[in-house]
Amino acid sequence: MNSSIMKHDIHVHTTLSSCCSDEHAIPSRMIKRASEQGLEVIGFADHLWDNEAYEPSGWYAPQNYQHLCAIREQIPEDTHGVNVLVGCETEYCGHGRVGISKAVAEKLDFVLIPFSHFHMKGFVVEQEEADSLTAVANLLVERFQEVLDLDMATGVAHPFFTLGYTEHDTILGSISDGAFEDCFGRAAERGVSIEIHPGFFPRYLGWEQEDYHEEPFLRMLTIAKDSGCKFHLGSDAHILEGIGSTNWLIECVKPLGITQQDMLQF
Ligand SMILES: [Zn+2]
Ligand SMILES: [Zn+2]
Repeated sequence: MNSSIMKHDIHVHTTLSSCCSDEHAIPSRMIKRASEQGLEVIGFADHLWDNEAYEPSGWYAPQNYQHLCAIREQIPEDTHGVNVLVGCETEYCGHGRVGISKAVAEKLDFVLIPFSHFHMKGFVVEQEEADSLTAVANLLVERFQEVLDLDMATGVAHPFFTLGYTEHDTILGSISDGAFEDCFGRAAERGVSIEIHPGFFPRYLGWEQEDYHEEPFLRMLTIAKDSGCKFHLGSDAHILEGIGSTNWLIECVKPLGITQQDMLQF
């Protein structure tokens, strides 16, 4: 059995995401590039807040389900043999506050839930909740578990990669193997996929710096694999040229023994 990982990317943003500034990041061009890069599956995961139970931030407010649905008209008939999925990257703000309702989740091919957009202070996280790196680490563990309890995530987006912080070695170093085993054991039980994300590999991005190296993320991924988790690849591309970067992620995780058998099935 061929165990090499199928080329795919299910974390792609288009111009429908407010943070996307590349006018070329549109489905037709991204799908074409995906085909050229050998990808078999591409999953659009634009930002989404569509849950009337919780008030969105001003930034999220326009990015509702109706807005997201525009993508269905933008996907060309000829997808160059690439399997195209329409999903979303919603939001989790703690205490059960999630940016998607079950009804909307059911209309999508997949739902990615991030829990570490800690750059959104005052919305995703209160300043006083994150007053130290240890507090950040504890909050990540707590929120990871809460995301599993929502029973809506196909996968978690960039798990334990905390936006708004560069001290990733310290943050991950504050999370014990036991805490990770607890998190990933439950993710495996619930079938929630763990994203393999470029942010885990600063050496390849040229982002390596003091307190930010790949080793802590490799420890995390090893525990996730040993816990029986499924994985998916996500480039988090916001530009056309980002399509294809999941191919080097495959090389990055090869030494961990992660194979196609460990991957989420589409
Ligand atoms: Zn994100
Ligand atoms: Zn994203």
